[in-house]
Amino acid sequence: MQDCLIIGGGLIGMLTARELAKSGLSVSLIEKGQLGQESSWAGGGIISPLYPWRYPDAVSQLAKWSQQHYPQLAEDLKHESGVDPELTQNGLLILAANETEQAQSWASEFDSNLRVVSAEEVETIECRLNPELHTQGIWMPGIHQIRNPRLIQALRGSLQYYGVQIIENTEVDDILFEKNRVQGVRTQEKIYYANQVVVASGAWTAQILQKQGITIEIQPVLGQMLLFRTEPGLVSRIVLSEDRYVIPRRDGRVLVGSTLEHVGFAKTTTEEAKAELHAEALRLIPALADYPIEHHWAGLRPGSPQGIPYIYEVEEKSGLFVNSGHFRNGVVLGPASVNLLTSMMLEQTPNFDLNPYNICV
Ligand SMILES: Cc1cc2nc3c(=O)[nH]c(=O)nc-3n(C[C@H](O)[C@H](O)[C@H](O)COP(=O)(O)OP(=O)(O)OC[C@H]3O[C@@H](n4cnc5c(N)ncnc54)[C@H](O)[C@@H]3O)c2cc1C
Repeated sequence: MQDCLIIGGGLIGMLTARELAKSGLSVSLIEKGQLGQESSWAGGGIISPLYPWRYPDAVSQLAKWSQQHYPQLAEDLKHESGVDPELTQNGLLILAANETEQAQSWASEFDSNLRVVSAEEVETIECRLNPELHTQGIWMPGIHQIRNPRLIQALRGSLQYYGVQIIENTEVDDILFEKNRVQGVRTQEKIYYANQVVVASGAWTAQILQKQGITIEIQPVLGQMLLFRTEPGLVSRIVLSEDRYVIPRRDGRVLVGSTLEHVGFAKTTTEEAKAELHAEALRLIPALADYPIEHHWAGLRPGSPQGIPYIYEVEEKSGLFVNSGHFRNGVVLGPASVNLLTSMMLEQTPNFDLNPYNICV
């Protein structure tokens, strides 16, 4: 019998398992495939929501907390695993001249570094930017990015460091209860017993909870991405315009994202999206025309109605917790949402108001 069992080894499940194990609990993490190969692998790793002022405060509060804690988390993960997740402060340049007022008003509470910058400043912030986009911009110099596959590798090492039992290639079929108290989970091979169970199953969360008669509004939302192989330093900032962005990695690779498609659980890439993202990449950074596309992939985001994750203990199902529905922002919201969930599980005073994240309220 374990203290805690987590269903789903994406970023949210891994961070949850790590935090609980750090507190001295015995923890198992069950993943139907390999750790971190779904949305958490596919994402861009920007440590900020896109157009952050468009989100409810419930999202901004979690994002702000995570942004403050990421440098320490990246250091700790490096120490525990020997893998550097490459947390890098490139800043985020947003070209949305008609949203400057909204951005400034949001920034007074959530990001004191945000500045509205002139067309001339935009040009110096990212010198490879298409001159046609030299207009007034919104500059967030404090924003970091992290390299998703490296973050996952580092988290795997950290889970081993803290003694989490990792069970891969094993799908949870159902959650077991006795008199409304959680007992564990059933897989095809066996039953795993635990005092507390966390559903952190990303886009698949609603399917698992449905078996218990629990309805939750989480749907898969497909996102396609392209990767260019360039030389280091070609692009130096994360740039966002008309919902398309480029993210420069330290080794010169440049990610371009992303589509938003409601196509169920089919995780397929299309030639149409590839052509569209390629054109968008060149619209932002014309120099990318000289470099090859190295990779094109898709991931299933756990879409929730306003992007607010569900973080709560299920009513009348004692010991069953949910941490899911981070939609486009699981990397930036993850540490804070895990801090909130684990404070509930460990009966500690939470750092956030629980209500916005609790479906039962
Ligand atoms: C193209 C794209 C770009 C993105 N860019 C960013 C970004 O720049 N910044 C940001 O903050 N966020 C970004 N995101 C969003 C972010 O990646 C997600 O919000 C986050 O990864 C969700 O993590 P998760 O652990 O909930 O889900 P997942 O990573 O999908 O993990 C869920 C896991 O649960 C497992 N599972 C499901 N059912 C079962 C079962 N029955 N038994 C066992 N295991 C099960 C799955 O196999 C999966 O591994 C992006 C996403 C995409 C797709």
